[in-house]
Amino acid sequence: MDSTTATAELGWTVYPTSGWEEVSGYDGNMNTIRTYQVCNVYDSSQNNWVRTKYIRRHGALRVHVEMKFSVRDCGSIPNVPGSCKETFNLYYYESDADSATKTFPAWMENPWVKVDTIAADESFSQVDLGGRVMKINTEVRSFGPMSRQGFYLAFQDYGGCMSLIAVRVFYRKCPRVIQNGAVFQETLSGAESTSLEVARGVCIANSEEVDVPIKLYCNGDGEWMVPIGRCMCRAGHEPMENGTVCRACPLGFFKPVQGDSPCQLCPMNSRTTSEGASSCVCHSGYYRTDADPFQMPCTTVPSAPRNVISSVNKTSLTLEWMQPRDLGGREDLVYNIICKSCSAGRGGCARCGDNVRFSPRQLGLTEPRVQVSELLAHTRYTFEVQAVNGVSDQSPYSPQYAAVNITTNQAAPSAVSIMHQVSRSVDSITLSWSQPDQPNGVVLDYELQYYEKDQAEYNSSMVKSQTNTAVIQGLKSGTIYVFQVRARTVAGFGRYSGKMYFQTMTEGAEYKTSLQEKLPLIVGSAAAGVVFLIAVVVIIIVCNRRRGSDRAESEYTDKLQHYTSGHMAPGMKIYIDPFTYEDPNEAVREFAKEIDISCVKIEQVIGAGEFGEVCSGSLKLPGKREMLVAIKTLKCGYTEKQRRDFLSEASIMGQFEHPNVIRLEGVVTKTTPIMIVTEFMENGSLDSFLRQNDGQFTAIQLVGLLRGIAAGMKYLSDMNYVHRDLAARNILVNSNLVCKVSDFGLSRFLEDDTSDPTYTSALGGKIPIRWTAPEAIQYRKFTSSSDVWSYGIVMWEIMSYGERPYWDMSNQDVINAIEQDYRLPPPMDCPASLHQLMLDCWQKERNARPKFSQIVSTLDKMIRNPNALKATTSPSSGPHLPLLDRSVPDFSSFSTVEEWLDAIKMGQYKENFASSEFSSFEAVSQMTMEYVFFLSYYHSNRHGLQINHALVRTAWYP
Ligand code: AMP
Repeated sequence: MDSTTATAELGWTVYPTSGWEEVSGYDGNMNTIRTYQVCNVYDSSQNNWVRTKYIRRHGALRVHVEMKFSVRDCGSIPNVPGSCKETFNLYYYESDADSATKTFPAWMENPWVKVDTIAADESFSQVDLGGRVMKINTEVRSFGPMSRQGFYLAFQDYGGCMSLIAVRVFYRKCPRVIQNGAVFQETLSGAESTSLEVARGVCIANSEEVDVPIKLYCNGDGEWMVPIGRCMCRAGHEPMENGTVCRACPLGFFKPVQGDSPCQLCPMNSRTTSEGASSCVCHSGYYRTDADPFQMPCTTVPSAPRNVISSVNKTSLTLEWMQPRDLGGREDLVYNIICKSCSAGRGGCARCGDNVRFSPRQLGLTEPRVQVSELLAHTRYTFEVQAVNGVSDQSPYSPQYAAVNITTNQAAPSAVSIMHQVSRSVDSITLSWSQPDQPNGVVLDYELQYYEKDQAEYNSSMVKSQTNTAVIQGLKSGTIYVFQVRARTVAGFGRYSGKMYFQTMTEGAEYKTSLQEKLPLIVGSAAAGVVFLIAVVVIIIVCNRRRGSDRAESEYTDKLQHYTSGHMAPGMKIYIDPFTYEDPNEAVREFAKEIDISCVKIEQVIGAGEFGEVCSGSLKLPGKREMLVAIKTLKCGYTEKQRRDFLSEASIMGQFEHPNVIRLEGVVTKTTPIMIVTEFMENGSLDSFLRQNDGQFTAIQLVGLLRGIAAGMKYLSDMNYVHRDLAARNILVNSNLVCKVSDFGLSRFLEDDTSDPTYTSALGGKIPIRWTAPEAIQYRKFTSSSDVWSYGIVMWEIMSYGERPYWDMSNQDVINAIEQDYRLPPPMDCPASLHQLMLDCWQKERNARPKFSQIVSTLDKMIRNPNALKATTSPSSGPHLPLLDRSVPDFSSFSTVEEWLDAIKMGQYKENFASSEFSSFEAVSQMTMEYVFFLSYYHSNRHGLQINHALVRTAWYP
């Protein structure tokens, strides 16, 4: 409302009529205005009101009133009474309708609300209402909060002389604005002058919120303040017109990310297909890797390498070349070598096998050269040198390459790696050896050099042989000779093999000789097996006897024994003890593949081995798929002996290849730490695996585990390998629940360290008593039959889900109990047939124990006929053991349990019986006589109950 814009009378309501008076006048610009004046200073008790018309609120919460007025200075009025005033009052009255009349609302404070008493800043003494002199005051007052539809204003004079020249009524608001990439709609100021009214912003088209919420505050003066949050133009759009619009990037431009930055021109070799592009697409034949920034030009594959030069040296070769002319715009160029060997005839070329060596490597060469070795002699090869970069994979074409054809030269054969003794007599030794791994041509003949160990090498003699065997005659009896052999082809002699020692028979040992000579004949006939075993036993006993008296000789005798047995089953691979090698490193080289440390990635420590940490990790051999592996490391600061013992496990493992024997991938010996890398077995060792999965498997699943272990042990025993430490802790389990025999370390038996209570020091080595057959404990008779005994204990461990064999009995108690024919009882829920198999494995007479091959077929039968696993045994039903112990009196002749216990000299267990489930004679009489309890071992069983563990008494030899 603005009184100055009125074109006609204002027509406000006055009270009383003798008070305010509407008068026309002029403003400073000589425009006509309507004013109200009053000047009744000489009359006392003035109370003059003038009321505006109804003013609509329009949503305003706070109303502002600007008044222009002039007031006459009372002092300038002659004879003015004391009641003269220089102020007036401002009031308002809220109402939802224009309902005021001449008498309503009553002309007084309350119902009117007083806003303020208004005084002039400047009064003036001379007023000329004719418009000549005008001193005008301007005052603004505001009030709120307002709630009705509208209101009236009133001005009260109480005895002054004044003129109300203009009245303007307004409210404040913040206008619609685009700020920080968002639109804020018009917002009215709050009810108080200090109020802040919040307004939410909405992102402009093609922009997105960066910071939320997006807010501005409208203050009492109608000003926006405190911006919070913002929106920014999306990828493909740039801010224009002071950030009030987001415009799509034009063709040929792109913007990869949201933000305020402008669109950029597409980099080289790329373009856009529409407006608003966030990236540019590469021209055909050009590519970008995931790691390339969008600003980078698109690149292409390199051209072919140039000027490949080869220089052949026998079966090795050096290739060198020049960088491609065109690198495709990239810097990540590498070279790959493709090797093809080409047959002499018209046939094509085929990729070279794995045995060709490339140095520094075959793929990903950064320098323009490579050494190739171990090629075949006299062979034509093609080498392709490919140039490859980061985008080669994306090109539909194979990399460009330069090729070179070469033909290798003559090369001498490689060395013979192993020699065996076939037989010997007092004056001759018959030897055989393997072909060189790389004959590089037809072997014409072999040359054997030999000399007495105690003589100098230059005294050596020479024998030639056209085959890989030779009989060396005319030797001295009982003498150790050193032998070396080398092969010859048209290219000349190869290197000599390592030195091997063999000894002739001593005079007077003919009996031994004749037996030994006959061995190869005996084997092959099934009935001769026992004779053969005796023969081996005789040899071993003889050798062992000699061991104490003659150290130097015994080394060779051990080897002899090994080589002899090595010949007993023709065509059969036989385990070779790495300690029979003069240099055990030679055994490592022969049986374990060297792995470059760069192929091994260690991930985490999974256990502690004897020599250092065991880790899991991965192995990526060139040309092979990456695989999970376990990595055993040798802790630093090792002695030479520790290194040898550590690596001996690899030399042993490397000779085996069977799905139930842990597989050696190779060794790392060229760098430290030294490592043994084997296949990874996800479920770790069997004993802890069983304990973690107590009661979780079906009988068939458990038999499956047993079968795997038996098959692995059959393989090892067929190879003449005696494990000596077969136990669930030394079986590893993979993710498919396949069990594999592991732990081929020998050192445990050799060292004196007795810190691990599982292994008890016996004369000359440590023995895991609970798992070991009595003859092995007593006189170190370790055989595959003693492994069978251990296998029986493993069966018991498996069927009891990892229970400790013989619980907490002491080692000596175990030895005594076994000696007295006590055996472990069937574990809970164990099928009777399996406990029977355990008892078979624990026969005192080792030859009566089943062979691993028999165990495998027995288990196979059970798997085929699972009904055989249904019948379980428990102490109260009792299995039918083959033989009874007749020395135990029949309890039917006793009237009480105590009496019976006294009779069997077990009176000390009366208390145990009284507190157990066998307290009554009736209960005891339920036991079959095959069971006599070796009492007193109280344990928690796997279901948390207290039970009486007992050993089963067996009597194989009544
Ligand atoms: P060892 O020295 O062979 O007894 O190994 C120590 C521990 O490392 C074992 O008990 C296993 O828990 C773990 N371990 C050894 N070899 C492997 C493997 N091939 N896969 C998984 N874990 C293994």
